[in-house]
Amino acid sequence: MKELSFNDLKGKVCVITGGAGVLGTSMVRAMASVGMRIAIADINKEVADKVAAEISEETGAEVIGVEANVLDKESLEKAKAEINEKLGPIEVLVNGAGGNSPQATTKVEQMEEKDLDNLADTFYGLQMEGFDKVYSLNFKGTLLPTMVFTLDMLQNRKGVVLNISSMNSYKPLTKIPAYSAAKASVNNFTEWLSVHLAKVGIRVNAIAPGFFITHQNRFLVLDEKTGGFSPRGQKIINSTPMGKFGEPDDLSGATLFLLSDVSSFITGIVIPVDGGYSAYGGV
Ligand code: NAD
Repeated sequence: MKELSFNDLKGKVCVITGGAGVLGTSMVRAMASVGMRIAIADINKEVADKVAAEISEETGAEVIGVEANVLDKESLEKAKAEINEKLGPIEVLVNGAGGNSPQATTKVEQMEEKDLDNLADTFYGLQMEGFDKVYSLNFKGTLLPTMVFTLDMLQNRKGVVLNISSMNSYKPLTKIPAYSAAKASVNNFTEWLSVHLAKVGIRVNAIAPGFFITHQNRFLVLDEKTGGFSPRGQKIINSTPMGKFGEPDDLSGATLFLLSDVSSFITGIVIPVDGGYSAYGGV
């Protein structure tokens, strides 16, 4: 029988894009705790270095920060060369860079009569620049790093890619059409690439985190003045059967499971980690 542990991950070289962010940092900590060797590839090199040093000290694992822009192939190729030199061939990729922006967010959830005189707050007021930014970061920002960072895996005929999707990939959330469309594309791409690479030993899966309070959504779910939940934040709690927001560490189990050989016959899936949100019909 196959060994049921995460021991196979010990010593494996992983690149995580956006690894200096809130969820990324927690995933780096989980991967470091099982002895993976990690490159945090982030556009913010200063924070990436800081997170790498902290986690390295905490866990004893080898963690480095590397500057990379997931939307720029040249920058990714430069990062890959640096990672190869410092850590060796890349065996695991986590596509963690992503997020929403207020520029691609409508102010109203549904249009009503009163909004006909103030289209700026609706779909019609969205700036294409904001739409492009969010769509690119989440979709192209998953596709391009995969093109660059899986090349070593092809050589070895073995590797794992883990994409980070979201709840809005299944059913779009109100107000955030660009982010929802982009994450739906991430699910679709996860399936597509899993098929494309299945015979050369690379598995491709995703996790879809439910609701976690982080800087990208704080402005939507918390009331600035009271510090309590906004009506939208309360709606999320009411729609989550477990009745709470997730803690970043809640992603660790699903992450290590999908990265490890424990899931060696699993490819092309998206696992929700959402306190039951996606299972609930609201009644
Ligand atoms: P975050 O904003 O804390 O972190 C994102 C990281 O990506 C930052 O370190 C940032 O510097 C980096 N980054 C941004 N643009 C980049 C670029 N062009 N190139 C390289 N790095 C770049 O976000 P988070 O909340 O930790 O989210 C991580 C992932 O999880 C994202 O894909 C997000 O869409 C997804 N997600 C978050 C939630 C949530 O509740 N926070 C829910 C579902 C999915």
